[in-house]
Amino acid sequence: MSPRDLAELDARVRRDLALISYPELRWLRPLVGPGGEKVLDVLIVGGGQGGQALSFKLKLERIDNHLVIDRGPAGAEGPWRTFGRMKTLRTWKTVTGPDLGIPSLTYQSWFEAQHGAEAFARLNKIARESWSEYLHWLRRVLALPIEVGTEMLGIEPLDIGPGGALLSVRVKDAAGERRILARHVVLAHGIEASGRWTMPAFVERLPPGMRAHAADAIDFAALRGRRVAVLGAGASAFDNAAAALEVADRLREQVAVARRRSAADSRLEVELGLQIGRRETLTGMLGTA
Ligand SMILES: Cc1cc2nc3c(=O)[nH]c(=O)nc-3n(C[C@H](O)[C@H](O)[C@H](O)COP(=O)(O)OP(=O)(O)OC[C@H]3O[C@@H](n4cnc5c(N)ncnc54)[C@H](O)[C@@H]3O)c2cc1C
Repeated sequence: MSPRDLAELDARVRRDLALISYPELRWLRPLVGPGGEKVLDVLIVGGGQGGQALSFKLKLERIDNHLVIDRGPAGAEGPWRTFGRMKTLRTWKTVTGPDLGIPSLTYQSWFEAQHGAEAFARLNKIARESWSEYLHWLRRVLALPIEVGTEMLGIEPLDIGPGGALLSVRVKDAAGERRILARHVVLAHGIEASGRWTMPAFVERLPPGMRAHAADAIDFAALRGRRVAVLGAGASAFDNAAAALEVADRLREQVAVARRRSAADSRLEVELGLQIGRRETLTGMLGTA
């Protein structure tokens, strides 16, 4: 039987976790730093769904001397409330993962406890804000050690004498810079931190008010009445084109998605108003990329 509300689901989660609480005691030998500082067993950088799932797994394994840090303010972890523009997840609503296979922790359990099984049956896909709320519920009910507003700046090895080495992680939060010592560091910082967002030089040279990257905060309402060119033709391009079309006055005439003609031909090809078939080249307007 489904729980009637979230409080009942919380109680069921606690019971489920109690039933699988082996090992019950910490089993890693505690370490201290050269100056007597606290040493974490694991520091996880990134409190998105990946970092959070790992934190849960470590807790289950009783490696609970760990910490997750995320640079975003609370609620801004991952893309769900920042640069994600699509209305729903792309994965089907029965997706599992952050629940680590425990039925009471699935999105479906969380959703049904609040809206009922019929509403879940009627649901098409999961709204991205709803997924973010669900992740925050997991964080709360599992009491995961996540510290937001703390950014990793760098990592260095720290020799602690014979047979030992630690990692020293430089972090910055509202109080300033400090270092965190850890046995292991997991980088779960998502696509955002695996390099840097880039745009072709000829676009970057345009005045900042006339161009944006898909990861920027974009005021789509301010684009009303203007012609918008979206460079690239992947998922983000179409999400942003759709977001722009939603505010356009003359739908299908103002938003164009552009992509390279082919690997060998870098001239840009444009699909006007997202209508496949009506194509022009932007070469004359923007030059080649
Ligand atoms: C609209 C939309 C729909 C999507 N739908 C799906 C879907 O249906 N299914 C799916 O699997 N994926 C989907 N994705 C992709 C989804 O973004 C990734 O699967 C998911 O976010 C990856 O999780 P993650 O934990 O690896 O990284 P992220 O969620 O990106 O989390 C990384 C975190 O690390 C933090 N961070 C980065 N650098 C630092 C630093 N130096 N110090 C501290 N913190 C740092 C960031 O603030 C961020 O919160 C979708 C994306 C979008 C935008």
